[in-house]
Amino acid sequence: MAFDIDMIKGVYARMAERVDMAREIVGKPLTLSEKILYSHLWDGNPNTKFTRGKDYVDFAPDRIACQDATAQMALLQFMQAGKPKVAVPTTVHCDHLIQAKSGAAPDLKVANSTSAEVFNFLESVSNKYGIGFWKPGAGIIHQVVLENYAFPGGMMIGTDSHTVNAGGLGMVAIGVGGADAVDVMAGMAWELKFPKLIGVKLTGNISGWTSAKDVILKVAGILTVKGGTGAIVEYFGEGAKNLSCTGKGTICNMGAEVGATTSTFGYDESMERYLRATDRNDVADAANEVKEHLTADPEVYANPEQYFDEIIEINLDELRPHLNGPFTPDLATPVGQLGEKAKENDWPLKVDWGLIGSCTNSSYEDLTRAASIAKQAVDKKIKPKSDFGINPGSEQIRFTAERDGILDIFENLGATVFTNACGPCIGQWDRSDAKGDEKNTIVHSFNRNFSKRADGNPNTHAFVGSPEMVAAIAISGRLDFDPMNDTLINEDGEEVKLDMPLGIELPPQGFDVEDAGYLAPDEDGSGVEVKVSPDSERLQLLEPFTPIKDESLMGAKLLIKAFGKCTTDHISMAGPWLRFRGHLDNISNNCLIGAVNAFGKKTNFVKNQLTGEFGGVPDTARAYKAAGVRSVVVGDHNYGEGSSREHAAMEPRHLGVAAVIVKSFARIHETNLKKQGMLGLTFANEADYDLIQEDDTFNFIDIAEFAPDKQLTLELVHADGSKDVIKLNHTYNQPQIDWYREGSALNVIKKENAA
Ligand code: SF4
Repeated sequence: MAFDIDMIKGVYARMAERVDMAREIVGKPLTLSEKILYSHLWDGNPNTKFTRGKDYVDFAPDRIACQDATAQMALLQFMQAGKPKVAVPTTVHCDHLIQAKSGAAPDLKVANSTSAEVFNFLESVSNKYGIGFWKPGAGIIHQVVLENYAFPGGMMIGTDSHTVNAGGLGMVAIGVGGADAVDVMAGMAWELKFPKLIGVKLTGNISGWTSAKDVILKVAGILTVKGGTGAIVEYFGEGAKNLSCTGKGTICNMGAEVGATTSTFGYDESMERYLRATDRNDVADAANEVKEHLTADPEVYANPEQYFDEIIEINLDELRPHLNGPFTPDLATPVGQLGEKAKENDWPLKVDWGLIGSCTNSSYEDLTRAASIAKQAVDKKIKPKSDFGINPGSEQIRFTAERDGILDIFENLGATVFTNACGPCIGQWDRSDAKGDEKNTIVHSFNRNFSKRADGNPNTHAFVGSPEMVAAIAISGRLDFDPMNDTLINEDGEEVKLDMPLGIELPPQGFDVEDAGYLAPDEDGSGVEVKVSPDSERLQLLEPFTPIKDESLMGAKLLIKAFGKCTTDHISMAGPWLRFRGHLDNISNNCLIGAVNAFGKKTNFVKNQLTGEFGGVPDTARAYKAAGVRSVVVGDHNYGEGSSREHAAMEPRHLGVAAVIVKSFARIHETNLKKQGMLGLTFANEADYDLIQEDDTFNFIDIAEFAPDKQLTLELVHADGSKDVIKLNHTYNQPQIDWYREGSALNVIKKENAA
């Protein structure tokens, strides 16, 4: 599968010297996270001590992974860079666009037909530019990465928030927006604010019904969905060593649910066992040679309070299994205590579905532990009260589980085995029951349980648990069932109890697969033709953005003055718009339709100053564009918070918006605006937001002198002819001003490439 052992050996060869230098600069022993960060600096030279949570630092990731929904725009942009190949090893995984309905074979057939043009596009672009391609049905991005590419001490980025899963194999792996991935594919640095560090010390051992999943369910309860923001969570202690590698992956996976930049574990024997079991003896051998650099210095874990910004300690001997939810993954409740909570909150106790798998919990250990519960239902003649669905994480795990009779156990219980894909985890679930207004409850072993996440139904109450607990609860059909204490009545009317789960860490006969679903790219892809139909609704080749001319910034018109919160979801909605992620013109029809207009307080209702008529934001922007008039968006604080999706910057750019002026930006969105060659500016005096009126014309009178550290001057001409002149701040450095002057960062890369 073409993991690059030479690349990995190169990382390890550089590590000792860089870690030593970093230790000297930092002036004290290093955590694992710091070792990985300092050994992946873009300039390769750890001669600066960075301040956690403050300094922005350029890094050089080792790998990139993209999933099919986000890869479309990322690769369309990369095609603009004029590079013959990606600069770092990259893979594309087709997993999000496959709906779960009837079962793996028919569902995959439907997806291959309905999303054929997207899959064909991703395959041909991958082939052309040296990107490994994982076909639909090959598996879920993060499981496939863990099985094939993750390696201790490495750094990777991925265009999906659960890229963090690879921390289970000792990586610093971080989810990013497509624009960041494109930079790295094109050979540029990747910028990140040097993270803070949270240490989680695990003492004791998990046993019985408690699993690795319960560690992160507990951590989520402690940290809440925001508690990890801007931080790497580093796990350590005897309890950590005793977890399987895939259990560590589960914990890191759900680090996304506490908002953490990523999570990681030091290299240990569980990782070595997993590397060898997944046919990577050479990676394990290479890691063993540098293992002192693949974990923190011993002083760190001995006195963690001196090295981490925050410490959490969990005694695994005392940890009970949890179910988290509904509607948020940080609402943690020990199993057995849900009955009362459910009554208080009017959550339905009856459980309709138990869903097992996803990128979070698809390991051999997970499936065997859940199967050991499912088998008891058959053996003890307990008729399951809920429906079962299984989403294996990869074809390799599915094939191996089938070979070893594990899938049979679930199927004997009436379970539907869905495609090796995201399915119900991302709302790609055509659920035939519970479509009305009635509240219903499901339990799953996935990571997220926000409203509508699984089936699009706001009445579905989803609870997150370990696969074995999901199996037990689904068999009982009751949310308040506690398998450690409660009994069930079987088909013979007897009272029976479920024994605790038994799992097998790694398949005794090894992993096996006939066709993993991987397509290696051509050595020389220059002759590969990338096909995009001009009539396509879902894909559109990008045209380079043309630079915004200074003269067009005299007489620009207000498009919308956004009132209050304006996240990337308000700017570029998700949901049904997901299908247009590869078609800039079509997806631009959702541009800012969720933003509240400060004049009239309605969404998607703004004045067209050219006609005096009111209409939707995209239509009005298109009207200005057609008339050759630039438009301006005004916003409040933290404009563009939320996801890092670049569509939120590309759409206004495409529709002719020249500048976004706000009280403050979410940083990633501000950077995305810069990358697309637009002006992202802030009011020097926040109160000037109030000066903006509905019929305002904007004159950027000194744009010709746009320079680093120099304010810009804006003349506002109001409808009555009166004027206000205000100052605007910006954070553009010279290279970013070059992006603006050339029309986009990609135009600059392309120009450099051609030179
Ligand atoms: Fe994301 Fe769920 Fe797919 Fe994992 S399984 S990549 S969490 S959608």
